[in-house]
Amino acid sequence: MPGILEDRDRIFTNLYGLHDWGLEGAKKRGAWNGTADIVALGKDWICEQMKASGLRGRGGAGFATGLKWTFMPKEVRPGRPHYLLINADESEPGTCKDREILRHDPHLLIEGALIAARAMLANTCYIYIRGEYVREREVLEAAVKQAYEARLIGKNNLNGWDFDVYIHHGGGAYICGDETALMESFEGKKGQPRLKPPFPAGAGIYGCPTTVNNVESIAVVGTILRRGAGWFSQFGRPNNTGTKLFCVSGHVNEPCNVEEAMSIPLKDLLETHCGGVRGGWGNLKAVIPGGSSTPLITAEQCETVLMDFDALKDLKSGLGTAAVIVMDKSTDLIRAIGRLSYFYKHESCGQCTPCREGTGWMWRVMERMASGEAEMREIDLLLDVASQVEGHTICGLGDAAAWPIQGLFRHFRHEVEERITSYRAHRPHVQGATLEAAE
Ligand code: SF4
Repeated sequence: MPGILEDRDRIFTNLYGLHDWGLEGAKKRGAWNGTADIVALGKDWICEQMKASGLRGRGGAGFATGLKWTFMPKEVRPGRPHYLLINADESEPGTCKDREILRHDPHLLIEGALIAARAMLANTCYIYIRGEYVREREVLEAAVKQAYEARLIGKNNLNGWDFDVYIHHGGGAYICGDETALMESFEGKKGQPRLKPPFPAGAGIYGCPTTVNNVESIAVVGTILRRGAGWFSQFGRPNNTGTKLFCVSGHVNEPCNVEEAMSIPLKDLLETHCGGVRGGWGNLKAVIPGGSSTPLITAEQCETVLMDFDALKDLKSGLGTAAVIVMDKSTDLIRAIGRLSYFYKHESCGQCTPCREGTGWMWRVMERMASGEAEMREIDLLLDVASQVEGHTICGLGDAAAWPIQGLFRHFRHEVEERITSYRAHRPHVQGATLEAAE
């Protein structure tokens, strides 16, 4: 069944790896076509076009990509080279879109990096790739080699902008997906987020101006500039434009990655591309719409919600990485969210107290909520602690740990209450279970 997006408008035409990922295959699909002409139009033109396209960062935060590029200094000062740092540390649970670009369409990424570097007066790009992505790194390295050999990148290349690409393999920590932790890790230090300011555009890697962009954000650049900002911005709706990779997992009949138009109704996305919810739409319980950190939404909300930044924000959730995790009525939501709490506890870098202590505390209480052993009054205490973690930490991991819990109680508080009540009804002797156990 066709979705909203027609095949002729797809950017990632080798998303499923059915064709040659190499240079010849990529060229046949349009990559490296007219790149020199785009580069020759200069940085201001490129930034303006990217702004006009409406592209918002695809790594989760959704900040306007073209605008971000203009934050870089307008000229290169002696001894302070500019850097493009590509975040390929894809680790948000549920997310598996950058992986497909890296292994099936790496030339789109390399080409986009060259153009982005031109726009920011950078001659060097580092790609920080997730530690577990070994095969992806191998493909990417081979693609970079091909690009050098064809003189598409490197010194005095055919595209008219000196440009070197280096691939850096991370160690596999989730927190290194945070742009400042990524820079620390890249520099060989512990992957712990930095306080901002200074922002990377002022002082990034090696203290020099740096822009960190997500893989998908960069890989779409060449096609946008080839086909025009107007072409890209026709998809979706104002402030939420373009095409987008969605990764759908969980209780659908055919989990998949698919490129679709931004703002596609969630119901259409699931029914058109994923074979529908397991057991039928009526069996849907909840959906995590944008990777594990985004609060879940209910089946009723899924009926009408559009998959974009603003529509999901209106529901107090988010598009995030557009990793859609579908949960049917067989799901123990309390246990599922408790499992995510464990993940965030495990991945906390431990640098700031609310996150280091709060994530572990929240996980332990979530475990007791899942078993029913918790006390009823702990629900409000847990929400109070979550609100104390949210917004009070150096990086977004604190928020990411709090949001799934807040989403659970916003919509399914009654389930937790029923579980606690039921546990006590069947085990009257546990009346003495104490709050201190959680503390
Ligand atoms: Fe580290 Fe958590 Fe603080 Fe982020 S919020 S800096 S992960 S302790």
